[in-house]
This record gives sequence, C-alpha cells and structure tokens, in this order.
Amino acid sequence: AGARVVVVGGGFAGATCARYLKRWAPAAEVVLIEAAEAFVACPMSNRVIGGTMSIRDLTRSHATLSAAHGVQVVRDTVTAIDAGARRVSLARGGAMSYDRLVVAPGIDFAYDSLPGLESAAAQEQVLHAWKAGPQTQELRRRLVALPQGGVFAIHIPAMSYRCPPGPYERACLVARSLQRSNPRAKVLVFDANPDVVAKKSLFLDAFRNRYKGMIEYVPNAGYEEMDAAGGELRFDVQAGIKADLWNVIPPQRAGIIARKAGLANVGGRWCEVDFLSYESKVAPGVHVIGDSIASAPGLPKSAHMANQQAKVCAAAIAALLAGKPVSDEPIVTNTCYSFVNEKEAIHVAGVYRYDADKRTMAAVPGAGGLSSAATSEEGFMALAWAFNILNDTLG
Ligand code: FAD
Repeated sequence: AGARVVVVGGGFAGATCARYLKRWAPAAEVVLIEAAEAFVACPMSNRVIGGTMSIRDLTRSHATLSAAHGVQVVRDTVTAIDAGARRVSLARGGAMSYDRLVVAPGIDFAYDSLPGLESAAAQEQVLHAWKAGPQTQELRRRLVALPQGGVFAIHIPAMSYRCPPGPYERACLVARSLQRSNPRAKVLVFDANPDVVAKKSLFLDAFRNRYKGMIEYVPNAGYEEMDAAGGELRFDVQAGIKADLWNVIPPQRAGIIARKAGLANVGGRWCEVDFLSYESKVAPGVHVIGDSIASAPGLPKSAHMANQQAKVCAAAIAALLAGKPVSDEPIVTNTCYSFVNEKEAIHVAGVYRYDADKRTMAAVPGAGGLSSAATSEEGFMALAWAFNILNDTLG
C-alpha cells in the first residue's frame, strides 16, 4: 500500500491540499478529516449580511472530493496529535496513523482577551460572523431589525487576522443595505489598528463619498471592555460607545487543534513553517497550511493564499513521498476582491517568491497592483473568482 497522508480540516487550505496531493501522488492514501457536515465559504459572506446573496450559494459538501478525486473523507474532529507516534485521535473514538500529516484547521477566536465577552451568553449577544454560517445569517436578521435611525457598530482587531480587508468591506455592504431601508442609521467602524489596513484609499473614498454621513471611521480604538447586555463597548482611549447592534471581530489565533498539539510556537498564536514545504518548524512530518500559519511579512491570511499554500505543500509532500527534492523556488499569488456596494468591487493583487537568504516569501517588485476605482466589471470578476476558487477547492 502507498503512504498515508492525513489532512485535518477541509476548508480552502486542507481540501485543496488533499485534492492536489491525490492528483500528484496517486499511489498515496489521502484521508481528509473534517468536523463539519458541509463547508461554508467566508468569501462573499459579507454579501449575505448585505442581503444580496444567500448562505446556500456559499455552502458545498465534500462529496465530490471522494466521488471524483479519490480522497477519503472522514466526518470527525481530530482531538489530539501524537507527532512522535505519527497518529491522530478522533472525537468519535479511535485513532489513525499517518506517514505525513497536514494540519489546516483555520482560526480560533481569542475571547479570553476580550473582557465582557468571555461567556457563551455574551457571545450570543455580540456576534463575530467571522466564520461563515449561522452567525452570518443571524447578523443579517439583526441588521434588518435595526430600529430606524439606529446604530450598527463594528470593532476590528489589531493585525494579524483572517482577511484584512473584510471588515471594511462589511462596513460598506452594511451601509449600502441601510441606505435603502434605514437611511438615517449610522455605521461606526472602530479599528484597533492605526489606519485602514488594506486598500486604504479606496475604502476611505467609499466611506467619505458613497456613505457620507453614514459611516464614521475611528482608528486606534483599542478594545477595553464590553457590556454585552447593555450594548456598550469601552475603549482604551475613549469613553463607552453604545450601539443598537455590535459586531465585534475577536483577535484570532491558529485553530484549536494546532495550538493543542504545540504547533503554535509564535507567541502561542501562529504556527511557524518552512515555506518550501509548509512543514512545521517544531514537529517533523507535520505540515501546517492556511490561516493557522505565521504568515510571511506582508502576506495576508486569505482563501487565495490558503489555496496557494495548499498546492505548494501538496507538491512538496508528493516529492518527499517519491524521494525527490522539494522545489526551492515556489511562487504564489494573491488576489483579494472587496465589494463596496452590491455591484461594484475593488481588488488588490500580489505575487510572492521564495527569498532563499531570508527563508521567507517576499513580494515580487512590480508585480501585482491595486484598482484605481470601484467598477461593476470588477464586481463580475469578484463573483467569478469566488466560484472558481470554490470549484478548485471542493470540485
Ligand atoms: P477554513 O476555510 O476556516 O477551514 C478550516 C476547516 O477546518 C473548517 O472546515 C473546520 O471545520 C475544519 N476543522 C477545524 N478544526 C478541525 C478539527 N480538529 N478536526 C476536523 N476538522 C477541523 N479570502 C479571500 O481570499 N478572499 C475573500 O474575498 C475573502 N473574504 C472573506 C470575508 C470574510 C467575512 C471572512 C471572515 C473571510 C474572508 N476571506 C477571504 C478569508 C478566508 O475565508 C480564509 O482565509 C480561509 O477560509 C482560510 O482557509 P483555511 O483552510 O485556513 O480555514
């Protein structure tokens, strides 16, 4: 029998890696262990909150991976990793051994660093909607129910977090929805960062022109304490702000299983990897991809990056299984679209190459770019990007 590679987590990183590994190492047994019944994609989920897309459009099963691509899909949660014995434990009981392991569990929320939001009850009152699913739909319902002239407020954590432009896109799409149904409402954007962290001039233009008088942007707004029941958030530099509807995006860290397995060696938060193979720097035979890794400087945590890392990792594992050298010149790309209303979008793109001296990924000078303005052509391309990447991930 061929070697067995176990992949933990069937999101943008894990499912892509499993699919391409089976293609490039057909003799290998590729097992994908995924906790959820179906995958719900985060890209475009701000459109669900804005009311112009349904969560069904973003939901896919893992069935094609097994039916058409030869990946064994196991519906279970990995509860422990024994890297020495090369074995994972499963929530439903039993264990599975592996020759190589890929860990791709996405993110976990650091609620323990948000006073007032530690309890489950408080977390139900103040939603994140930063993992697409029921919270996305519930935030839409609450937005529709916002009183006339009410206040929607969003808090953005300090970098680094999943999808840097996502909160600013959300502010635009929430404002657009309110412009139609609740034009006296306000959208307050409190940012723990000193400035808009992505597509700055384009988002500020949207805030100041398209949503003039509706969106107010406040930088350097560090979270201090939340009174969830009273709908009030206190900041380190200003008094408490009350809102009818709060959306607090918590600080993030590597998925629970990655941290539990001791893979998150960077500040106990993110997993350091070798960018040639995505093998963990602390656990031989264990690779980490997607949002859980300590990203190279300037590279975002995105579905596009997760997809690219997955392919570099799959190619490296295929080479290692065949006793061949791993490529020493990976090149990856990232394109990130954001909608500013239901039709028009903007993008930022980058190309990154391995820097052998610094052992990291670095931007290729002169490659990539930024939109000059939001257009509906880019809106079409954004939707095409979203469905293409979902097809590439889950078939
Ligand atoms: P995920 O996609 O979250 O997948 C992780 C999977 O692992 C999940 O299915 C989970 O159930 C599973 N899992 C976790 N732990 C276990 C376990 N112990 N056992 C078994 N299974 C487990 N990116 C873009 O490129 N473009 C965009 O336009 C974009 N828009 C976004 C908008 C929003 C609002 C948000 C929140 C994110 C957006 N992103 C976008 C970012 C993108 O969603 C993430 O970067 C991407 O999902 C990361 O992929 P991942 O595979 O690391 O994690």
